[in-house]
Amino acid sequence: MDGLLPITYVWTDRCALYAQNFTARVIPVRSKEIIVDPQIIIVAGREKSLLRRHPWIFSGAVATVKGRPASGQSVDVLGQNGQWLARASFSPKSQIMGRVWTFDAEESVDAEFFARRIFQSAARRQDLKSASNALRLVHSESDGLPGLILDRYAGVLVFQLLTAGMEFWRAAIIAALRSLFPEDAILERSDVDVRAKEGLAGRVEIVHGRVPELVEIEENTVRYLVDVQGGHKTGFYLDQRDSRLAVGGAARGKTVLNSFSYTGGFGLAALGGGAAHVTQLDASAPALALAGRNRELNEFAAGSMDTVCGDAFQILRQWYKEGRVFDLIVLDPPKFVDSKASLNRAARGYKDVNLCALRLLAPGGRLFTFSCSGLMEDSLFQKIVSDAALDAGRTGRIVRRLTQAADHPVSLAFPEGAYLKGLEVLVD
Ligand code: SAH
Repeated sequence: MDGLLPITYVWTDRCALYAQNFTARVIPVRSKEIIVDPQIIIVAGREKSLLRRHPWIFSGAVATVKGRPASGQSVDVLGQNGQWLARASFSPKSQIMGRVWTFDAEESVDAEFFARRIFQSAARRQDLKSASNALRLVHSESDGLPGLILDRYAGVLVFQLLTAGMEFWRAAIIAALRSLFPEDAILERSDVDVRAKEGLAGRVEIVHGRVPELVEIEENTVRYLVDVQGGHKTGFYLDQRDSRLAVGGAARGKTVLNSFSYTGGFGLAALGGGAAHVTQLDASAPALALAGRNRELNEFAAGSMDTVCGDAFQILRQWYKEGRVFDLIVLDPPKFVDSKASLNRAARGYKDVNLCALRLLAPGGRLFTFSCSGLMEDSLFQKIVSDAALDAGRTGRIVRRLTQAADHPVSLAFPEGAYLKGLEVLVD
């Protein structure tokens, strides 16, 4: 088994999943000297979350580390009484010192483990293939692979390794991807801030095949160019797929403002749904340039869309003074909250921008407003929007609650996996 990875299934676009006896080479990543996995012993009482299958072990819950595990190496997690609880990766520099690979004592963590989990995760998305050829195939903890993000854009795989544990198994993950997706190009986009917390530097690298500068994808009949090498996240906000569909469905004949537009996603979905006109507003000129190319790609009329580059907070105020109105407004700002300490400041930011947007809505208009901050609870977000409406002197009702698309699932044991929330508000 050493160095060989038997894979039974392959994912392609032409057919669903077909069985194949396939053997790929894997660079052995486990050192021969490691015979017994090192251990971490949990503080008495702190094993409760593990018994509920929550995958994080905070440094404060670790009583003892035995056997000098290297960064990212697998450890057995034991209770004070010696009870085996889990097998986890070890992140000595992080506040989250352990992330659970498995709660099954019989399951070993090796190259085959990663291939199996990635395959299972991709297979769970089979029924989403008809909506788009761009899907998140692995959503970290919620897919049993803490620290791994894998997105697939029309035959280009883009992965991110977020933790020391995933970094440790990098070669095995690449081998698994090459085996499971033999036709695909592979790009690593491990250029994310969270790696610093794990003591890891960033990395962007084409690992296999030819990765075009822009990858064309199609989602619910609208086409988008995706900058996989330099764009936000892995290039596109795949998590907003269902909400783009909702906006498209409400847009016929409407004047639409897509604020915080990035490369135009919601606005293009609105044009696809028959919007009369779309204004794309963002602070990033390159993102808006790509929005323009996306309009051309879909052959939407030049006069049907304009782009405005600037600070949304200022521009929305200015337009209010000028008396501009829109029938439909999308507000999808960046994450304002990155710690509990910043929640108050973030709440003020969300309230301000929602207030500004609500004032620009025509009577009977519709607001699609979002927060992608995991620390912002649904109930607080709703209160913020409600306070903003009060200050704007508008009344309205929530007609739909929106959330991250199904390829960004939330493990029942890991509520932190839910981060994106949205409200569709019909305003009087
Ligand atoms: N709605 C987009 C994703 C938005 S990401 C989509 O579905 O694809 C957040 C965007 O907000 C980024 O493109 C960023 O450039 C932009 N942004 C951040 N601060 C801004 C500000 N003050 N004014 C306008 N745009 C801003």
